[in-house]
Amino acid sequence: MSNTLTFSNLPLSPQLLDNLTSLGYLNMTAIQAQGLPHVLAGKDLIAKAKTGSGKTATFGLGLLQQINPRFFGIQAMILCPTRELADQVGKELRRLARAIPNIKVVMLTGGKPFHPQKSSLEYGAHIVVGTPGRIQDHLSKQTLELKDLQTLVLDEADRMLDMGFSQEINHIISQTPKTRQTLLFSATYPDSINQMSHAILKDPITIHVEAEHHNEVIEQIFYQTNQKERQKDLLNLFQHYQPENSLVFCHTKIQCNEIAQSLRQNNIQALALHGDLEQRERDQILLRFTNHSCAVLVATDVAARGLDIKSLQAVINYELPHDPEIYIHRIGRTGRAGEKGIALSLFTSSEKLRLESITTFQNKEAKIGQLKNLNQQKEFSLHAPMVTIQFDAGRKAKIRAGDILGALTGDAGLSNSQIGKIDIFDIVSHVAVEKQALPTVLNYFANGKIKGRFVKARKMG
Ligand code: ADP
Ligand code: MG
Repeated sequence: MSNTLTFSNLPLSPQLLDNLTSLGYLNMTAIQAQGLPHVLAGKDLIAKAKTGSGKTATFGLGLLQQINPRFFGIQAMILCPTRELADQVGKELRRLARAIPNIKVVMLTGGKPFHPQKSSLEYGAHIVVGTPGRIQDHLSKQTLELKDLQTLVLDEADRMLDMGFSQEINHIISQTPKTRQTLLFSATYPDSINQMSHAILKDPITIHVEAEHHNEVIEQIFYQTNQKERQKDLLNLFQHYQPENSLVFCHTKIQCNEIAQSLRQNNIQALALHGDLEQRERDQILLRFTNHSCAVLVATDVAARGLDIKSLQAVINYELPHDPEIYIHRIGRTGRAGEKGIALSLFTSSEKLRLESITTFQNKEAKIGQLKNLNQQKEFSLHAPMVTIQFDAGRKAKIRAGDILGALTGDAGLSNSQIGKIDIFDIVSHVAVEKQALPTVLNYFANGKIKGRFVKARKMG
């Protein structure tokens, strides 16, 4: 029996519908249920929704339904704040599009060479996903042309404005046809977004999806500290809760570095993620965190925004954010997919107002914990269970995940359960292995082979 949440009531092509079934998308998420009918009807849309709510399919299905694969011209464009977010959107779009033959999605993001992007565009493409800076570059070098654009998507628009992209965005939009459909997604709705919406959307439908995580799966505890004790109390939280993986939120890059360093000095394996890092460093840090070879990530809101890090045991606020919505956003990283998560926050007397606004916003009494009741341990250390190994061969050497798995479980003698996530890149590959297996692996690859080829291995970090 069909219910109101199934995709099958929507005017979507049978291929798209079948593919959704094969992806295991049985029911629409709230934003899809509220947004898709309008998107498919060609309306402009403003949607306020948080990370993980299923935004990509909301615009993705809309634009895919419209695209003519036989016509090679950019028919849809998605602007994203960062390369990581663009990559996530690109991946999800390709999954959604896989039932339609020959749809070409081109990624136009900074931190990547310009020329391959140019060639992909010349070769003919249907969809562009990218960051405003790089897309603007392509427009000014006339390697990108938007006269056939039907759908324009601004994903995480508030973040793009925070990052100072408003000029680029305006310039890009000025190059698109007025007849386009515009879909704007934003987690928060400050005045700047309001103004932008008025300028670029026509008679939009506005939807607002409530924060979706369920209070019962995220336990929130607030601890009062003072400026002097804050770092020590953070350690204390780690000692007591010992989360296998956690994200610590800070306000500034300097703070991120400081705290990551202080954690490391206290035998807690931590890395800092913030906007000042080079793209390559950021990618490596994220890779090590997501494959469980780094226990703690210390990040700013901007750096952590939208990252799809699954099953975090804890989110820790080193300091409370001013905006309760940011707080909700942050803690939504834990307790995903029905797993229980914990959100721990330190606050000082001068942050009490922030705590009050969080309480009001959630309409829920804050649970205040007592630091003095936490366990303190002398000999404490916290390390991730895995380490990341880098091989000096990748896609260009035709290495596939199966080859690495084969070499490790075959000649190197590891068991399957000792091997974690495998990531293949152009000229290198990364694999997470259990820490105990590290000597064996390095030993084997002193002159070991993958696919009949000598490959060098080294431990990352
Ligand atoms: P957002 O952009 O809002 O943060 P995404 O569009 O990336 O979220 O979706 C979050 C996750 O949920 C993705 O892993 C996606 O594959 C999955 N997802 C989206 N819609 C559905 C659905 N209707 N049913 C099941 N999973 C879904
Ligand atoms: Mg997204």
